[in-house]
This record gives sequence, C-alpha cells and structure tokens, in this order.
Amino acid sequence: MDSRDATAIGVDADSDRAWVHASIARLRREAARSADTHLLHVALPAFPGIDFYFKDEASHPSGSLKHRLARSLFLYALCNGGLRQGQRVVDASSGSTAISEAWFARLLGVPFTAVMPACTAPDKVRHARSLGASCELVDDAATVRERAAMFQADGACFLDQFGLAEQATDWRGNNNIAESIVHQLAGEPHPEPAWIVCGAGTGGTSATIGRYLRYRGLSTRLCVAEPTGGAFAVGWLTRQPDARSRCATLIEGIGRPRVEPCFLFDLVDRVVEVDDADSIGAAWLLRDLLGGWYGGSSGTNLAACLQLAEGMRARGERGSIVALLCDRGERYAHSLFDPQWLAQHGIGVDDARRALERRFGTSLHTD
Ligand SMILES: *Cc1c(COP(=O)(O)O)cnc(C)c1O
Repeated sequence: MDSRDATAIGVDADSDRAWVHASIARLRREAARSADTHLLHVALPAFPGIDFYFKDEASHPSGSLKHRLARSLFLYALCNGGLRQGQRVVDASSGSTAISEAWFARLLGVPFTAVMPACTAPDKVRHARSLGASCELVDDAATVRERAAMFQADGACFLDQFGLAEQATDWRGNNNIAESIVHQLAGEPHPEPAWIVCGAGTGGTSATIGRYLRYRGLSTRLCVAEPTGGAFAVGWLTRQPDARSRCATLIEGIGRPRVEPCFLFDLVDRVVEVDDADSIGAAWLLRDLLGGWYGGSSGTNLAACLQLAEGMRARGERGSIVALLCDRGERYAHSLFDPQWLAQHGIGVDDARRALERRFGTSLHTD
C-alpha cells in the first residue's frame, strides 16, 4: 500500500467518525425534544384500595414502546462501530419495531429494510413504507430473523432486535422505561407497585424492568402477560430455552413462536396466560377506560392486570399495579377493531367484554 492510499483511508476513517458523532448528537437531540410518556391513573370501583396505572408507550413519536428500543439499537450500532454513513440497516419485526426503526433511519438518513411476517397488520406495513422502509414480507413468521441476517451477509447493518434488545438497553437508568415509571410514581399513595405487567416480544422490556427492580432494591414483582400457549409461557415454568409455542396468536408484538435470545426467565415472577378473545375484549375496554385506542398486547396486559388485582382483592391487599400500553390501536383499525375481521377470526368481542366485566365485578368504569 503506498502512502497516498494510507492517507485516503485515514481521511475516510475521519469522515466516518465525524458522521458517527453527528448521528449520536442527532439521537441525543431527538431524546431531548421528546417528552416522557404519560403514566395514566385509573381507579375501578370493583377494586377498592387498588390503584391502576397505565404507562402510555403509544404516545412516543413513532407510536409504540419500540421507540425506546429503536433509539437504543441505533445508538448501540453506532457506538459499536457497526453503522457507517449510507449503510443499509435491516431488522426482523412484527411491525412496531419496523415503524420505529424506519423513523430513526429517516432521522439519520440511512436506508432501511424491514423483514416482516406476511400476516402483519397492513396498516403497519403501510406506515413503515411511508417512512421510507423497504418491507420484505415472509410467509413463515419463525424465519424472519434468519432472513434479516442474510442482508447482513450482503453488507447491511443488522440491528437485530431479537438478539440485542436486552444488551442495547441501559438497564441501570438513562430514563429507561422502569426508571421512568418508578420516578413518576414517587408521589403516589403506593409508590412501590405490587406488580408491573408487560409482554414479551423481544423480552427486552421485561429484562430491563426486572433488572431495574433488583438494582433499586424494590419489592415490586414482574408479571409477563402472554397469549395462551406462547413460547415464553411454555418455557418459563421449566426454564426451557428450546420451548416452542403450543398455539398461534392474533396478538401482534408478543406470543412468540419460540423462546427468543433475550427472554430472561429468572427476572420474571409470574406469567399470566390470556386467551386472544380476552386480550381483544380488553383492548376494546381500554377505549372506554382511557378514551384512546391501544393495540392487542395492551389488552393482554390489562387482562393480566385484572387477574392480579383479583388476587389482591381476595387477600384484602391494597396497593398499585402498573401495566404497559404498548402501541396505538389505530394500527389495528382493519383487524382488531374491525367487526368483520373479528367475525372472520371467530372472535366475539362483545362476549369477551361482557365476560371480563362479569368476572371482575360490576362494570369496569372509572369513577
Ligand atoms: C415489542 C412489543 C411488545 C413486547 O415488548 P418487548 O420489549 O419486545 O418484549 C409488546 N407489544 C407490542 C405492540 C410490541 O411491539
């Protein structure tokens, strides 16, 4: 190599580094412009002495809790020297991550490809495309990660949410979701919640919350709300990393077909399984409770949260429970919130709602 080439390489390295610095500064400015998400309080007459709080992750600029993850994954890729100016970025996603990653790819000016299951809600695919993503739809949902890894072999930067969610998130703080919740509860009557309820898609959120609870010395328990027969539920009891789901689910974002690399079983105190009809009925109930639309996994969390509250009520306990609202319900206007779609999938949402209301006491209205 002659000295001219060496100089050229040096110049390239300098401009690469300058782009990385500028990109990290962009992510920092985006975080500074974004407000924290709301922690919404609900009191249900059927559960006296129990305060319910809903962490509204749908209020992120890209519409779901994956906004936090996408920001962390891009930061991780940049700090690892794994993402250069103009390089294509790729990931596997059931939709919400694709939207948030497309949002951040556009912010940083890099091209982005999302590999998604063909059954993903069409509104989510459209949304990712409108943000500039190129979407690859694959028939077998279990193969999305391998398919995304193939792009990496062609030189793309693989964000790898399923492989890296728990490492890329700063679990000690840095305004992660757990720190935000704990901070927002500080002045409430029961600032240390009895339970925090979340789902497991990548497993990143439950890992971050579980670690943070221990790190801060809190007695709060962590519950994963899982579609009935999902791989997290099947694997959790026996700590089986090769567990497979027993049945498919209509709930997007959670209920994975297999145990994902970031499923950290030991951090979870309880898994509550929820049938799809109950999750969807609960998503409809959330509209009445909160006046906003939230997706199916938010319904799963509400259904699990009511089960935990039922146990507390039976034991005469008081306290607070926090459940996550994961994404915006508008994304499911043509599925979960479309009566025709529900009929096609054999879901009787009114029955499910009435059953929930019967089971958990009077009507689930707020005061
Ligand atoms: C990803 C996702 C979850 C689960 O969060 P993880 O941190 O990936 O486990 C829940 N609901 C929705 C809508 C999601 O997109």
